[in-house]
Formats: sequence, C-alpha cells, structure tokens
Amino acid sequence: MAKAVIALGSNLGDRLAHFANARRFLSTLSTVPPEASSIYETEPVGEASTHPYFNAVCAIETELDAMSLLDVLKRYEQEYGRDPSAPRWSNRTIDLDIIDYGRQVISRQRLQVPHPEYGNRLFVLVPLREVLPGWRDVRSGQTVDELIASSPKIEVSKTSLKW
Ligand code: AMP
Repeated sequence: MAKAVIALGSNLGDRLAHFANARRFLSTLSTVPPEASSIYETEPVGEASTHPYFNAVCAIETELDAMSLLDVLKRYEQEYGRDPSAPRWSNRTIDLDIIDYGRQVISRQRLQVPHPEYGNRLFVLVPLREVLPGWRDVRSGQTVDELIASSPKIEVSKTSLKW
C-alpha cells in the first residue's frame, strides 16, 4: 500500500465534469476516499495552450505499484479524449500526473517521481499545500512552502466549486 499524490489539470470542455469524473475514477484506485484540494483556476502556460486551466491535487492510498498506477492513469487520459499525439502544453480534457508515490524516488524512462517539473508549477504546489501542508520533497527535503516561495509566479485562483 502506498500513498500517492496525483495532480489533475483540464482546460478543455466541461472542466468541472472532467474533474468530478476523474475524482470518481481515482476513488476506484484508492482504499480510502481521496483527499482532494479545492479546484484552482490558472492561466495557461506555453504557446500551444489557449484556455485557462482547472488544477487540483488528490491524495490516494493505493495497492497498485507505481508503474501500474502510471499505466491506468495514462489509459484513463486517453480513453477520456486526450490526443496523445498533440504537442505538450496543448489543450487537454484531463491530465493526471504522479507527484509523489510512497515517498519513493523513481527514475525510469517512463516515470520520474517526484514529478520532474512539479517544483516549478505553482498550480500543483498551491493545491498540494492545501491537502498536505507538511509535505516535503523526498529528494531535497524542501517543504511545500519553500517550493512555493521559489516557484515562478503565476496567477492561481482558488474557486469555491464543489466537485
Ligand atoms: P504529460 O503529457 O506532460 O502528462 O507527460 C506524459 C508522459 O510523461 C507520460 O507518457 C509518462 O510516461 C511521462 N511521465 C514521467 N514521469 C511522470 C509522472 N511522475 N507522472 C505522469 N507522467 C509521467
């Protein structure tokens, strides 16, 4: 059993429905109800992306090993309508990234944990702090507050949406 932290993002179509569906899906992978952050709205990053994002974080307790978890998350993304051939940062119905898996450091070609870019992503760090305020990066030992302080500043607005 491992505690896994999943970051969700969506900037296409009915973002709230995508999030509610993804949360239900994550609950099927978890032995406990997922601990979910609020939904945050974020300006898009990168050229290929045009619509504002919804972002959130869910923590689950899963019996899946890390690679199996990656496989089911990526399969869900594809089945849910994301075009895997689209350029990075392009618009997407749902994006599910593994931020932390059981406090492990994983350096495989298909999976790096902690997620290699989360430390620069305020839209991951802010909801992460809401769910796990005492969280630390397993490699650097930095707290989520320290990571937020050093992350590039972008607009991340907390919504009051129920999901
Ligand atoms: P992206 O389109 O940015 O979500 O990147 C997708 C690819 O990143 C996937 O095909 C994964 O194999 C790879 N990847 C590497 N590390 C991770 C991680 N921690 N969580 C999710 N995907 C990852």
